[in-house]
Amino acid sequence: MATLRQQALGLVQTRQRVTSTAPSSKISDYFGVNTFGTAQMKVSLAPTAFKRVMEAIDKGTKIDALTAEEVASAVKTWALSKGVTHYTHWFQPLTGSTAEKHDSFFDALGGLEKFKGSALVQQEPDASSFPNGGIRSTFEARGYTAWDPTSPIFIFENTLCIPTIFVSYTGEALDYKTPLLKSVEAINEAAVAICQLFDRNVRKVQPSLGVEQEYFVIDKALYSARPDLVMGGRTVFGHSPARGQQLDDHYFGSIPTRVKDFMVDFETESLKLGIPVMTRHNEVAPGQFEVAPLFEEINKASDHNQLLMDVMEKVAERHDLKVLLHEKPFAGVNGSGKHNNWSLITDTGVNLFQPSNSARENLQFLTFLVATVKAVYDHSDLLRASIASAGNDHRLGANEAPPAIISVFLGATLTEVLNELEKNGNIKIEKGDNMYMKLGIAKIPEIILDNTDRNRTSPFAFTGNKFEFRAVGSQANSAGPMTVLNVIVAEVLSTMAKDIEKEMTAGKEKKIAIVNVLRKYIKESKKVRFEGDGYSDEWAAEAEKRGLSNLKSTPSALDVYSTKATKELFERHNVMNGIEVHARHEIMLESFMKKIQIEGRVMGDLALNHIIPTAILYQNKIIQNANGLKGLGLDNTAAVDTIKEVSKHIESLKSNITAMVEARKKLNKEEDIVKMAKGYQTDVKEAYFDKIRYAVDKLELLVDDESWPLVKYREMLFLR
Ligand code: ADP
Ligand code: MG
Repeated sequence: MATLRQQALGLVQTRQRVTSTAPSSKISDYFGVNTFGTAQMKVSLAPTAFKRVMEAIDKGTKIDALTAEEVASAVKTWALSKGVTHYTHWFQPLTGSTAEKHDSFFDALGGLEKFKGSALVQQEPDASSFPNGGIRSTFEARGYTAWDPTSPIFIFENTLCIPTIFVSYTGEALDYKTPLLKSVEAINEAAVAICQLFDRNVRKVQPSLGVEQEYFVIDKALYSARPDLVMGGRTVFGHSPARGQQLDDHYFGSIPTRVKDFMVDFETESLKLGIPVMTRHNEVAPGQFEVAPLFEEINKASDHNQLLMDVMEKVAERHDLKVLLHEKPFAGVNGSGKHNNWSLITDTGVNLFQPSNSARENLQFLTFLVATVKAVYDHSDLLRASIASAGNDHRLGANEAPPAIISVFLGATLTEVLNELEKNGNIKIEKGDNMYMKLGIAKIPEIILDNTDRNRTSPFAFTGNKFEFRAVGSQANSAGPMTVLNVIVAEVLSTMAKDIEKEMTAGKEKKIAIVNVLRKYIKESKKVRFEGDGYSDEWAAEAEKRGLSNLKSTPSALDVYSTKATKELFERHNVMNGIEVHARHEIMLESFMKKIQIEGRVMGDLALNHIIPTAILYQNKIIQNANGLKGLGLDNTAAVDTIKEVSKHIESLKSNITAMVEARKKLNKEEDIVKMAKGYQTDVKEAYFDKIRYAVDKLELLVDDESWPLVKYREMLFLR
């Protein structure tokens, strides 16, 4: 009988193209048609209701019951006109994916379609199945979802989806969105105060985000034939293909037709949902691709990234493909990340990270730049923790982009500007002098435009008019790291405002006061700046000398969540209280531990039930062969050597798996989640995963191809 692998490979041969057509050749004809956005609201709401909703979006004011009723009614009419029968609150629990609970518009009692304002505004999903880090067991076993009017309502898979926050009955956040929204408020307040030093007209500052998303695509049948991918999202075994990473990137220049069809299809669906994807068809590693939408307000962009991942997964099914969002589905091949492009934009339309022709604006630019660098330096451990996950551990610090050391890349020009400022800051500014010229601030823009050098190995890089956080995991919810980034920058901005104030009280002129504080911050945060090759061993050594952390595993990286300083930081900015921070720490540890546990189990199962039996059958064949040769009086050394080698790997597998199971059993009795997660890291993952994998991958090379049970890397990665 054919193995699952052979059946799957046979199926792949029969695949046909699945093409789709966009509703129009003009994107503007269908962009956002599946969203109840501003345009849709304007035509379907009465002017007063529309005004109230706009105010709520802009100023965060509460939507009253009457307005909610009106919106609900308009949304229902709109949804029914599009053939939609159900609605759901769409939220982002700490599991990492999105969750929904569908309800029908149809009210059997009344025999009509109904949608009340109260159902729009609030729901009580059965929350017991979502992680809560002890919050709900200590308090109240209920959670509720509440409408977030700042993110547009949309139709997905014939269901009306209402973006919501998800909180416990006692008000603690159980999701990613709630702290993000609060962090947006925190940074708004802190940034406006600084902006006011430069421009009194600034009333609001909003973080913006553009997420570049990397992913792999493989055939669905091949995916289904790999239990490790199905169970844990990554291959725990598999020998590197002959043609892999060692070849230059552009070798993989042309995208397989089936993948291109898939891209066109999911881009169209995304555009209908108002996700501003830009057509970008490039291949990074074999089987790996990237999509990037235009940047938007951070909460919307973060929702859109979550939705985009959902859309990609759904659309892939139509193409008999499977999208792999795991950070490291294949060993020895490039991993996947998100590049979170982040900046701050004022309501006067100024991007605070955009160098400008005006010297005064450049001082403002440098103020925000230096504050961000200082924030990354002061809180590098928290930033590191914000991207920690079992999947991302395979990228960070695993000798592959980017390292687990948090550093900032600024480029040669800005490095020079900051160095000059540090050095020349105390030069005397005479009356009539151009301070900006003297400090070397006036000339930034022209040079920056030339400075196209981009260091791809830096986890946190300045790229012209924004910062790019490149160490975020590909399946992560962007809201996690973006909440931390907003909070730490808010923290530095508010300290900075006080420091500037102090200088001014001491009699310094405003500009001079700002420059003095910048100089101090530049000096203090210098160690976090690094322009060289982030992947090199020299950098790891240098970083250690500088006293920078290099936390390679999730459980250790998460330790910072248990400190008093972290809890106070989040509390000070009204983003999370101590209980919420503690809960998040537990949830992340638990999620890490469970993932390693699943991988360990899958490894054991595959090795014992698939690999070893196949290896033994193969070994028996060679034993026959060796005996036959001997009977004929011929040399059978090669056959005997192979037998010995196969035996060695089988033995190694058996003993390591037995020992790994024992280690797991012992750890499962551990009651302290921190100790348990750390134990899973050292006593399970580090102690056995590589050894087990080594033996299996060697056997893959020894055993005849036809009987090998697992789909091989070359078969998955090189799609036609
Ligand atoms: P790269 O060269 O790194 O591929 P791009 O210039 O194509 O980057 O931009 C990548 C992402 O950065 C896009 O999503 C883009 O919309 C976003 N981006 C551009 N400007 C900003 C900004 N001011 N704030 C946030 N994101 C931005
Ligand atoms: Mg980028």
